[in-house]
Amino acid sequence: MMRSHKIRLNPTPDQEAYFRRAVGTARFVYNWGLAAWKQCKAEHPGEPHGVMTLKKDFNAIKASQFPWVYDVAKDVAEGAFANLGSALANYYNSKNGHGRKKIGFPKFKSKKHMRQTFRLNNDRIATRGNWLPVPRLGWVNMAEPLRLDGKIMNAVVMQEGGKWYVSITVEMTPPPPKTFDKPIVGVDLGIKILAVLSDGTQYANPTLLRSELGHLMRLSRRLSRRKKASQRWKKAMQQLRKFHQRIAWRRRDYLHKMTTRIAQTYAVIGLEDLHVAGLLKNRRLAMSLADAAFGKIRIQLEYKSAWFGGRVIVVNRYFPSSQLCSHCGEKHASLKLSEREWTCGNCDAVNERDPNAARNIEAEALRQLNQSPVVAPSGTRLVDGT
Ligand SMILES: [Zn+2]
Repeated sequence: MMRSHKIRLNPTPDQEAYFRRAVGTARFVYNWGLAAWKQCKAEHPGEPHGVMTLKKDFNAIKASQFPWVYDVAKDVAEGAFANLGSALANYYNSKNGHGRKKIGFPKFKSKKHMRQTFRLNNDRIATRGNWLPVPRLGWVNMAEPLRLDGKIMNAVVMQEGGKWYVSITVEMTPPPPKTFDKPIVGVDLGIKILAVLSDGTQYANPTLLRSELGHLMRLSRRLSRRKKASQRWKKAMQQLRKFHQRIAWRRRDYLHKMTTRIAQTYAVIGLEDLHVAGLLKNRRLAMSLADAAFGKIRIQLEYKSAWFGGRVIVVNRYFPSSQLCSHCGEKHASLKLSEREWTCGNCDAVNERDPNAARNIEAEALRQLNQSPVVAPSGTRLVDGT
């Protein structure tokens, strides 16, 4: 299994200057290669056109025509040719009907594009703790260590919104089958509390700290007082953007820690199939929901659980997880969203909304797991009672 980890970089000013030269070189080489490829194809149609030949041509002339490519490691030009090769291959594969997505013919890379990148050679990127080795440059500080174990396949340094990142792709060797601490859990996702587990564990939705809220308000006020598009306005905008980015990174970290922990502990994870698009129609919920990142949680739980040898069972979106009493199974259809706690009219159990839903999701996941496919011919629904 291949996984990528994107990590913020903290380059020194010298290193940043090198990065800028490297993305410029990568862009130039890619565009040179694409132009040369097009010319080849126009002049000799019907012949195969390999990127490797172009690379040889380029290497033959680079010393005399483009001596500045020597300012950066040769990995940069090699990476650009490799990118061009895969862009062309992807285009022709999709044209021949392979792959799901339609892919356009490679375009020239523009300086104005939001994302500028260059590649590092895979055999030289052994990270050490928070440090990334970059050929011809030395060690560059990473905001966190590489979280994935395995063989590093490639690394791309990129600039996005004024910040530098490295995205490292690792071929992960599956761990030996794991014995899980616990067999099964139901997970109820929510807005106020991000996840409530059927064993009672709760993960709060990380919100702004009080001090951060004050900081955010100060930054927004500053921005609104300044003249739009002025230097001072741009600076305030930059500060605000930085603030939001910091919060986003903290959230991302929080989600990863949560999903790793759940996936490591339980062999089977029951999860609701939340129809996020439908929920988003409710404008008031929309903002916090988008924030809560339910989709990300599901993706992470699915791949991490598969990774540890467990599995995720997605419970049908019409399953009334909140309305059933988890003690006796009685359905309380009139339950409102505002009712956080309710007493079952049938068995007198007092149900707390979220833990009750989580227990129902666990029970439903178990039922789906045990359902033998041989018993139910397609089209037949197995319903209890009636
Ligand atoms: Zn009951």
